[in-house]
Amino acid sequence: MDNEKLIDLAAEAMENSYSPYSSFRVGAALLLKNGGVVTGCNIENSAYSPCICAERLAIFKAVSNSRKEFLKIAVVGGKNGEKADLCLPCGVCRQVMSEFCGGEFIILIRGQDGSVTEKSLQELFPLPFVFNK
Ligand SMILES: [Zn+2]
Repeated sequence: MDNEKLIDLAAEAMENSYSPYSSFRVGAALLLKNGGVVTGCNIENSAYSPCICAERLAIFKAVSNSRKEFLKIAVVGGKNGEKADLCLPCGVCRQVMSEFCGGEFIILIRGQDGSVTEKSLQELFPLPFVFNK
């Protein structure tokens, strides 16, 4: 699947965002190694702490269906759904990505001008927390 198609799927997922408090709408599309795609959107809550980001929702949906091998994730978002430049995953999502993905995992972000920025997880989160068993 090409990057543009994955970005388009993230933008479609953003339409389902439930964000009445921040009005910051985000969609994500996670490309699995088997070629499948799992999408997510941010879902807010009046108590705030139960909120979840689009990226984590997509990853958790995949993991809950026994899918743990990922290639890349596209993220699209912005205030009132207007795509912001570099709507990057938050630190919590980067930590979750590091649980299931290596440093070569790719994050795609589409800016307001339509350009796509590609970052590796290694670039965005070089030193994740690791629990040594
Ligand atoms: Zn996040």
